[in-house]
Amino acid sequence: MSHLETNLIHQGKQFNESKAVVTPIYQTSTYFADEDLQQYIVAATETKHPTFYHRHGNPTNSQAAAIIAGLEKTEDALLLATGMAAISTAILAVVKAGDHIVTQNSLYSGAMLFFKEFLSDYGVSVTHVDQKDNEAFERAIQENTKLIYIETPSNPNLDITDLAFIGELGKKHHIMTMVDNTFASPINQTPKDFGIDVVVHSATKYLGGHSDLTAGAICGSKDYIHSAWRRSLVLGASLSPFDSWLLLRGLKTLSMRVKQINSNASELAKWFEQQPAIKHVAYIGLNSHPQYELAQKQMRGGTGMLCIEVIGDEEQAYIHAQSILNKLQIFANAASLGGVESLVVHPASMWGSHHDKTQKKTSGITPGMLRISVGIEHIDDLIADFENALAEIK
Ligand SMILES: *Cc1c(COP(=O)(O)O)cnc(C)c1O
Repeated sequence: MSHLETNLIHQGKQFNESKAVVTPIYQTSTYFADEDLQQYIVAATETKHPTFYHRHGNPTNSQAAAIIAGLEKTEDALLLATGMAAISTAILAVVKAGDHIVTQNSLYSGAMLFFKEFLSDYGVSVTHVDQKDNEAFERAIQENTKLIYIETPSNPNLDITDLAFIGELGKKHHIMTMVDNTFASPINQTPKDFGIDVVVHSATKYLGGHSDLTAGAICGSKDYIHSAWRRSLVLGASLSPFDSWLLLRGLKTLSMRVKQINSNASELAKWFEQQPAIKHVAYIGLNSHPQYELAQKQMRGGTGMLCIEVIGDEEQAYIHAQSILNKLQIFANAASLGGVESLVVHPASMWGSHHDKTQKKTSGITPGMLRISVGIEHIDDLIADFENALAEIK
């Protein structure tokens, strides 16, 4: 096997049957049969066959999936239209009515909605536990538990779940383990190394990396990807040919981008620690992070995600956070993350509709919190932007 950076460019090349150096966009819904009808029948039934019908597969899609499976060290991967399509399809390939899932309190808002509103309507019960409490996961296991679903680092508060513990727990109880690896990206964290069975991604974020597409990935064993693919045939959220081509293009620079992002975020986090207007900085790469040691054990980099907490009581902090958003010039106030451009959001106002008050508390969202996704701009410009935005906050 060659190295990761090389694989990002060359893995899955066999799916490009043209002479073009860059895999073409197969902008077609269907593919014709040649003389060998027997082969056409195989194409109709084979998992993810790239040249039968778009909902079954697509050559560009297969190539990008091969690269992502390589990154996550899993046998196979399935790409879908969004991260939520990947998450819901991946879970519905595991559980049915009567089953139980153990998950954590702090989750991506869409995943939270899926657990709280969708699955309960379909007879699947869910227990949420504190992700920092290993024993709580074990205590929550029931006879009908079929899945342990985690997210680490979690959104938005950057808590860490112990991957090795969860991997072992799943093996011990014969329960499938699944992790949302979006925040870390496979450059910073490979859950398979710790025995996690399935990895899901919002490829909209670091994997695509340019805020110009939505996509999702499910990575796992060949058998599991077959069942997820069968679910995807009826749920139907196929990744479009153009988006899969953009994803393939974005993946080529994943390693370079994430390294630059890690470095920018780490410098910015250290700078925030020196600012009197900032009460608290949460960044995985700082040794002030309460789970710094665990992060060092299971991650290779701090990611581009950090949270700052502005000074002031609840009301003041809320107003300060809003004023910072208004003053920033480079950091755009926009949802999403993981792109080359720096973004910032105010979770307390953004997720008002998804989370009620107690949910906000358990997922660590406070009035003065800003969540930052650091991009690849020059670090001096990023610091100058915040210097200006924080200037009048006392
Ligand atoms: C964005 C995100 C998702 C959902 O992905 P979409 O592509 O928006 O559907 C899931 N998990 C995490 C951690 C995310 O940041």
